[in-house]
Amino acid sequence: MKILVVEDERNLNDAVCHILEEAGYDTESAFDGERGLELALGGGYDAIMLDVMLPGMDGFEVVRKIREAKDEVPVIIVTAKSATADKIEGLDHGADDYMTKPIDTDELLARIRAHTRRKGEADAQTIVFADLSLDQVTHDLTCGSKTVHLSQKEYEVMRLLMQSSGVVSKGDLIEKVWGTGEDVSENSAEAYISFLRKKLAHIESTSQITTLRMLGYRLEPSDGRVSMR
Ligand code: CA
Repeated sequence: MKILVVEDERNLNDAVCHILEEAGYDTESAFDGERGLELALGGGYDAIMLDVMLPGMDGFEVVRKIREAKDEVPVIIVTAKSATADKIEGLDHGADDYMTKPIDTDELLARIRAHTRRKGEADAQTIVFADLSLDQVTHDLTCGSKTVHLSQKEYEVMRLLMQSSGVVSKGDLIEKVWGTGEDVSENSAEAYISFLRKKLAHIESTSQITTLRMLGYRLEPSDGRVSMR
C-alpha cells in the first residue's frame, strides 16, 4: 500500500512518512499543493494525507481538484487549526476524514487502516462456508436472515473450522485457539463445539460440525459434501 503525504513542514512530513514506513506502507512526499495534486492525479495511492496550509494551492483546493477529476482515493485532511469550520470545509471539499496537529501515531495508523480497508477489503472481512458467513470484525455468524453473535473463543473455533478444508484435530484446535501455554482440557474444546452446534441450530444452518472419533472435528454442509468454499 502506498500513501502520499502532502505537507510543507519537512520535519513533519519526514516524521509521518517514517511512522507509515515502520508500519509497512510505502510513502511518497510532496511539499506544496501543486506537486501534491500532480502526484495524486498520477494515481497509484491507497490514501493521501493532506495538510491544509500549503504554499501556493491550499489543501482544500487540492482535494477539490482531486474530486473534480473523479478520483475516489481516500483523503485525510491534516489541519493545525482545531476549529470545527475548517474540518467541515475539508469534508465539504471531498475529504474523507481529518486529523488535527499534533499528529498522534496510533490515531494516524488507525485512520489510515480504516480508510484503506474501506476501498477493497470489505470481502476479506467475511469468511463464507456453505450457507454460513462469519464477520471477522463483528464476530457475527449469519445464515440467511438469521444472525448470532459469537464470543471470542467461539469465533476462533468457528473460523478455524470454516477455513479448514478437512478435519481439525482436537490438538490443533486447542493449540490454535488457546495456545500451548494455557492449560486447556479436551473437554473445554468439546464444550465450545457444543455451544457452536447450538448456535448453528439457532440460525437454522444446515451445516453441521461432525465429530470424527479419534480424529477431531469437521464442518460439513448438510449433504455431507465438503464445500468448495
Ligand atoms: Ca503547512
